Amino acid sequence: MNKNPFLIMSALMAIGLLSGCVQHTHNWGETTYTWANDNSTCTAERVCKGDNNHKETETVSTTFQEITAPTCEGDGKGRYSADFSSEAFADQTKDVVLSHLGHSYGAPTYTWSDDNKTCTAKRVCTRDENHVEEETVNSAYQVITPATVEADGLATYTATFSNDAFVLQTKNITLPKDVYATKPHLSADGETVQYGLYPQTNVNDSSLVSELNELTDPEANGWYLYNDEYYAKTVAKPHENNYKFDNGTLITKDETYWFKCEPIVWKVLSNNEGECYLVSLTLLDVHKYDDDKNSYDESSIHSWLSNDFFSAAFALGNDNILETTVDNSGSTTDSDDNPYSCNETHDNVFMPSYKDYMNESYGFAHTTADSDSRCCKTTDWTRARGAYAEQNTNPFYNNNGYYWTRSPYSGDSGFTWCVTHFGNIYSEEGSEVDSKENSVRPAINIFFD
Ligand SMILES: [Zn+2]
Ligand SMILES: [Zn+2]
Repeated sequence: MNKNPFLIMSALMAIGLLSGCVQHTHNWGETTYTWANDNSTCTAERVCKGDNNHKETETVSTTFQEITAPTCEGDGKGRYSADFSSEAFADQTKDVVLSHLGHSYGAPTYTWSDDNKTCTAKRVCTRDENHVEEETVNSAYQVITPATVEADGLATYTATFSNDAFVLQTKNITLPKDVYATKPHLSADGETVQYGLYPQTNVNDSSLVSELNELTDPEANGWYLYNDEYYAKTVAKPHENNYKFDNGTLITKDETYWFKCEPIVWKVLSNNEGECYLVSLTLLDVHKYDDDKNSYDESSIHSWLSNDFFSAAFALGNDNILETTVDNSGSTTDSDDNPYSCNETHDNVFMPSYKDYMNESYGFAHTTADSDSRCCKTTDWTRARGAYAEQNTNPFYNNNGYYWTRSPYSGDSGFTWCVTHFGNIYSEEGSEVDSKENSVRPAINIFFD
């Protein structure tokens, strides 16, 4: 009996060599399987019901397999597998959710409409080109620097998106300079406006004159377009034979001269929230008032201003001219009871009245006496066309003209009120309605867009 190995084992156990266990047939409980937090390992364990110090454990590294790949918006499925070497333990699997990936958008692109009024932002997922985020917004427009006659301006379109993925877009555009003054341009000091085009300065370049002489097809208003500039020509009939152009050339009777059409500069008489009353800064042309009478509404100068002058000067743009209800009553002349006053007229272009030229708020002297405030120069064009021009060693008075007001003189149907080269408002000799050497100083009312 002593040789029975079981008895020897029992004896050894009995004396505590196997942790005090008593030899028996294990009665294993259920195996538990415990996954590591990261599922990289799995531990199987079973405990003997007869003695919970009797344990069998095995920990194995797992393998991973993707069952269903996750997409941008859809979760996928993965499976960890644990294969135990002990036959006592069953192989285990654990399925896990593979979270959807979210879109992987490429860099946004921004596309402006042709008129820049809208901008479209778009981004496309690099994993699936059908995954697109797109937003179209209306842009805001702001003029940063207005264009002038001489220089380009700058404006900006700004597009703001509600999607945080898209950043604010700006697009700068050049406002091309308005070389023909098709729109009114207020000077920085607010004193003058450039608007409209009219022949003014004699062309002194002999090669240019030769080229202009080759032109045969004038525009509707009689001007010629050459190298993007407008020119007009006239046969000179100077009032005196000693008159000169500003460039010093003597103006020779019956000779044909060319003149560059240049933006008309207007003096701002009043500016009421962008509506301006303007009178030309120079004497733009020469024309008789009428053949025989001083009634403005029926005068030939009224017709000439409304038709010839208006259609020439504003051929390229007249949208900003306000039709003016012109008061031709006696109160605008030297006498409230002026027998030659007439009905109001409705004009795009007209001439200031006697009273206008005495209105201090317009910057004119309050009396009819000589005043520099009313002095006004003829242009090369005007002198070639027969205007009177003061010849004076004082540059301020040299080439000053003698120009019409629209107002009839109350004492004689053949006379008007004119302004002399010294700025005197005058109704005697030289103010006859048929004086051919008197200049025209047009006036307009405009608004700014
Ligand atoms: Zn046991
Ligand atoms: Zn996507």
